[in-house]
Amino acid sequence: MTWEQRWHPLREEWVIIAAHRQNRPWTGETLEKVSKQIPDYDPECYLCPGNKRVSGLENPNYEQTFVFDNDHACVSMDAPKVAETDLEIYKRKPASGIARVICYSPKHNLTLTELDHDKIIILLKEWQKQYTELGEHPEINHILLFENKGEAVGVSNPHPHCQLYATNFVFKYIETEARVSSAYFKDQRRTLFQDILKAEKEDGQRIIFENDSAIVFMPYFARYAYEVYVAPKESYLSLADLSEKELNDFSQAIKHILIKFDNLWQMPFPYVMPLHQAPTDGKDHSGFHFHIEFHPPLRKPNLLKYLAGPEIGGGNFLSDTSPEEKAEELRNLPDTHYKKTGNKNG
Ligand SMILES: [Zn+2]
Ligand SMILES: [Zn+2]
Repeated sequence: MTWEQRWHPLREEWVIIAAHRQNRPWTGETLEKVSKQIPDYDPECYLCPGNKRVSGLENPNYEQTFVFDNDHACVSMDAPKVAETDLEIYKRKPASGIARVICYSPKHNLTLTELDHDKIIILLKEWQKQYTELGEHPEINHILLFENKGEAVGVSNPHPHCQLYATNFVFKYIETEARVSSAYFKDQRRTLFQDILKAEKEDGQRIIFENDSAIVFMPYFARYAYEVYVAPKESYLSLADLSEKELNDFSQAIKHILIKFDNLWQMPFPYVMPLHQAPTDGKDHSGFHFHIEFHPPLRKPNLLKYLAGPEIGGGNFLSDTSPEEKAEELRNLPDTHYKKTGNKNG
């Protein structure tokens, strides 16, 4: 039974692993397993081809990925100008930036998990293009690309899509990772993430999948029960630096873990999936290693990991599960999606 603190070197914080608590009694709310049939086109969906969005604009009859500026943007190049405050302690700026939505495919019900390998490649190339083009903008210092999936993370529209926020500031976790990785590189002349990969390989217990150039693992310091990293084996600043062959391997790695996730409880598996790419602020980010993180909110089929006192109140995670056991659980699941093996659940 694992009961210890583990250091998270990318975030510079302790994670308390208290796996002996996993089966403590629970009498609170549980989530219903979603098993309703979703059509491949929904006339009410603002993301489906040909439908009208809230802005009044009509979606084209797109056939692959479809990118548009978010109609409910939280950052915009048109955000109101604000005057500086007289107070030194309170700073403010216009909420400027670019917010976009990227639909994975015209199909309302086709999740990233079920998207064909060649269609995932098309999507990855769209991500590369967005990062490169927006990154060249002088006012854009960072691009946060992420997918929120499932009602458990507050997504009401099931149409598979991700979002991006291109901002003049660097999002906090990436700012920390970039700073820590850069300091490590200067100090050790090695890449921190490469040392993490080396440690994971030496241990081996938490590796879920690998091919020539990509690797999937649950980090030693996982904060969520099913937290998984997908990374190229070479260090790159962003997805845009991957070669055709590496992109191919990376797509295979993503597909592999997504199938495992869905097979876990035979349901579309909810998660928050950010791409951690180097800032585009023109500074030296030697030592940064691009990767994707999956932060699934569920601990059990119907049980959310609630962020409470330690996480929200104190800022450190308390995990009720052992990363070694959870990685093994994922590794032991079938490699074929449950919907393709004839199981009718979900
Ligand atoms: Zn739709
Ligand atoms: Zn990261």
